[in-house]
Amino acid sequence: MNARPKKSFGQHFLHERRYVDRIVSSIAPKDGDTVVEIGPGEGAMTLPLLAMAKTMTAIELDTDLIPGLQARAASVGELRIVHSDVLKVDFTALARELGAERLRIAGNLPYYISSPILFHCVEHAPAIQDMHFMLQKEVVDRMAAEPGSKVYGRLSVMLQLACTVTPLFTVPPGAFRPPPKVDSAVVRLVPLPPEKRPVGDPGRIHAVVKAAFAMRRKTLSNTLKGLVDEATIRELGIDPRARAETLAPGDFVRLANAM
Ligand code: SAM
Repeated sequence: MNARPKKSFGQHFLHERRYVDRIVSSIAPKDGDTVVEIGPGEGAMTLPLLAMAKTMTAIELDTDLIPGLQARAASVGELRIVHSDVLKVDFTALARELGAERLRIAGNLPYYISSPILFHCVEHAPAIQDMHFMLQKEVVDRMAAEPGSKVYGRLSVMLQLACTVTPLFTVPPGAFRPPPKVDSAVVRLVPLPPEKRPVGDPGRIHAVVKAAFAMRRKTLSNTLKGLVDEATIRELGIDPRARAETLAPGDFVRLANAM
């Protein structure tokens, strides 16, 4: 216990019990759920989750933390620790390997790679039942932002096309050791059912969203030059003089399909 937190691994260990309890009761794992935790650290969330789920998997990059966690978990349940960078874990294959229809993923994420982790999970959305993540509050605000908001952008669109995004509660810096510089928040993501997922080439959708938000102050006819021409944008009933921040997530799918 109480290993020296490593900055390079984004380690901020949650120590305030009431926040651990709130996260765990938001997830409320049941015996039989296939829970996968990203970055268990010293096990603040792992041990209470394991007590409820009985068996679970945790993915940790820092080798130094693994033996201690494995030892502490032994009397609680069956914890399988995968030593890996989470970005290299194929969640679809992991679900198959664990014999699960879908995974329940949780984690107090390392903030230095929070967006790549979110995009990585979205790629595997069909293999995931839900996700509960602790992130910088500013990132949660961007994830849940609606069109017209200052913080509405690529992250909002890409996540909302794949999941329902529900911010749950804020956590102050003092709840962690060492305290991060910013407020944190817990968010729930539930992948959309197949009939609500966008129909189209994900690569194209990504390309349109990326280009449209690359220069926020420019009009769509400018930012989408070379991808979708002005006449096509107009035919879709979208004003080519509009800016990306005014478009609904579904508009980007229609633009991508018209490429
Ligand atoms: N869950 C613990 C808690 O709440 O106290 C630790 C959270 S700490 C913010 C992030 C954890 O993710 C650390 O244990 C860190 O070693 C681990 N981590 C960092 N980068 C990782 C990666 N690429 N893949 C998997 N785990 C990683």
